[in-house]
Amino acid sequence: VKPVVAVVGRPNVGKSTLVNRIIGRRAAVVQDVPGVTRDRVSYDARWNGRELVVVDTGGWAPDAQGMAAQIAEQAELAIAAADAVLLVVDATVGIQDVDEAVVRVLRRSNKPVVLAANKVDDQRTEAEAAAMWNLGLGEPFPVSALHGRGSGDLLDAVLAAL
Ligand code: GDP
Ligand code: MG
Repeated sequence: VKPVVAVVGRPNVGKSTLVNRIIGRRAAVVQDVPGVTRDRVSYDARWNGRELVVVDTGGWAPDAQGMAAQIAEQAELAIAAADAVLLVVDATVGIQDVDEAVVRVLRRSNKPVVLAANKVDDQRTEAEAAAMWNLGLGEPFPVSALHGRGSGDLLDAVLAAL
């Protein structure tokens, strides 16, 4: 049985872009419009000879009031079915309320969590990634899902967490 890794986080942080990077092809839908991934979508992936299933999540409806609750609920379903969780945050905008809502769900789940500080496209943004230590989930892995920067170290950490 392949281990399942759920990719969670608020809209527009780059979850689907990161999933595409991990699965090595363009399959997950990436758009500038937040919330385009309506459901949880699973993909087969392989890293260092190990097979895994990566679950892209979304499900956000453009209802500002219920947004945090809906994201947390979507994340909760994916997390329940996962062996490990990859939490994606956007290093360029810092920690948001919705990030913290997802972190609360993660704490309750007791699943292993790896933290990806995404959109670290260059060296200059790495200091901003370090601010993600404040989420209390341990070491943030700086990555650029768009360019692939740091994704190898991140995947090593994901496999080590399984
Ligand atoms: P999701 O809603 O979390 O699935 O986010 P998407 O993967 O759809 O990406 C949202 C937007 O962020 C798109 O315009 C992506 O091109 C952009 N994006 C994703 N990853 C990166 C990254 O590493 N660097 C930069 N600069 N933009 C990114
Ligand atoms: Mg998406």
